[in-house]
Amino acid sequence: MANQEDIFKKVISHAKEYGYIFQSSEIYDGLSAVYDYGQNGAELKKNIREYWWKAMVQLNDNIVGIDAAIFMHPTTWKASGHVDAFNDPLIDNKDSKKRYRADVLVEDHVAKIEAKIDKEVTKAAKRFGDSFDREQFLTTNQRVLDYQAKADGILKRLGRSLENEDLADVKALIEELGIVCPVSGSKNWTDVKQFNLMFGTKLGASAETATDLYLRPETAQGIFVNFLNVQKTGRLKIPFGIAQTGKAFRNEIVARQFIFRMREFEQMEMQYFIKPGTQKEWYDAWKEKRMKWHLSLGMGKKNYRFHDHEKLAHYADAAADIEFKFPFGFRELEGIHSRTDFDLGSHEEYSGKKLQYFDPELNESYVPYVLETSIGLDRMFLAVFSNSLQEEQLENNTSRVVLKLPAVLAPTKAAILPLLKRDGLPEVAQKLVDDLKWDFNVAYDEKDAVGRRYRRQDAVGTPFCVTIDHQTLEDDTVTIRHRDSMEQQRVLLSEVKGIIAKEVDIREWLKEL
Ligand code: ATP
Repeated sequence: MANQEDIFKKVISHAKEYGYIFQSSEIYDGLSAVYDYGQNGAELKKNIREYWWKAMVQLNDNIVGIDAAIFMHPTTWKASGHVDAFNDPLIDNKDSKKRYRADVLVEDHVAKIEAKIDKEVTKAAKRFGDSFDREQFLTTNQRVLDYQAKADGILKRLGRSLENEDLADVKALIEELGIVCPVSGSKNWTDVKQFNLMFGTKLGASAETATDLYLRPETAQGIFVNFLNVQKTGRLKIPFGIAQTGKAFRNEIVARQFIFRMREFEQMEMQYFIKPGTQKEWYDAWKEKRMKWHLSLGMGKKNYRFHDHEKLAHYADAAADIEFKFPFGFRELEGIHSRTDFDLGSHEEYSGKKLQYFDPELNESYVPYVLETSIGLDRMFLAVFSNSLQEEQLENNTSRVVLKLPAVLAPTKAAILPLLKRDGLPEVAQKLVDDLKWDFNVAYDEKDAVGRRYRRQDAVGTPFCVTIDHQTLEDDTVTIRHRDSMEQQRVLLSEVKGIIAKEVDIREWLKEL
């Protein structure tokens, strides 16, 4: 069994080799945590977006979709809390030039002290055997008490300094504790700076009149500020949802793991506006509905799990993640958040405009509560891609690399292959391409032996290969080969479209929803 790291490396190199994902500006050695989608990646990404959009907007009478701008009025981000709270404290080591989260450095130091306590406990447990009383030991052993007091004191001071924005004291703490850079081993630190994860930019031509803007760090606010526009023009009644897909930008301090954590990424979000007091039932309902959507793709129930948040963001009264088993373990793929009336209430306050809904049944107006589902499109892409990439041992002692993408998402649905480049076979194949391309993305390939062409299509994830041979000229039949089973069927040319259509029909995939 290859280890996780090897598997992940294979995913990254396969994505590049088959035109799915390239490093951004690669000819200039790339840009950290920014990626481009190639010819196949763009199709797969579009298909995932469409799969989400259809399930969310087209199949729900009371959910509509919008497309808000990336630039928003700067007060938006005051109201949402991002200007004040979307921060991490940063520190650089001058020798290694490595950048760290200052709070994480201190917390790692505390973890080492706590490890010493654990060691004392293990030692004592051995010494005292059955009569060992852990609680008593922890509360009476002087050495342990000293360690604990030290750890608590450090964390308390860190908490206080961060709360008071006293970054000089955070640095003083790092220095007093003698914390060294894990890379250079030196204590040569810069000052601590507060680092806001939003990217800033300027709107306007002249320096004096330019307005400071942010690239949106989430798409949700574009929905909140349009809440009344959409509700009124769509004459929507609560409960109703507004969905949106689009780019978001975060200047992540430590961005690794390929497209899992990017600085520019795409979100697919839906805000569901509900009556205050009903949030618990909608929270449960949307958790279930979203999990069903994931399971509809057939990527294995065991690869998903819920993770309920204990520590909640400032806007939430309940939150859970849907986690997926990526090559590096279970990680967040989608968040489901009960956002209360925090956002609309805050926008009311900052804009001075009422953002309320008149409930005809209650005959009163209120600020609706919001239930949000938020998924990263790129993260979903990574989930689908990494899960689909498989190496299979075949009977004749060979192996094949196959990308078992759900057929509904595959960039190319079928490859049309004339067995030979002559005898009129390419013409028949081309005619089939010309017919099918109105309905699906299809490829034409006449190069190399047909076995090699099958392998190429397996690796790129094409669910069907259709081979035109001499028999086709006689009786209008072709061979259709299925990617996953490698089974081949002889069917009439006229049946090909129907066979493909059935497998890639979104209705078949989403009917359980
Ligand atoms: P994380 O804890 O991984 O940073 P988050 O909790 O900050 O994520 P949210 O703000 O809830 O994420 O954003 C919703 C979704 O957007 C996430 O579930 C994830 O799929 C996606 N997402 C967030 N940050 C990134 C990023 N830097 N790159 C790619 N996708 C992201």
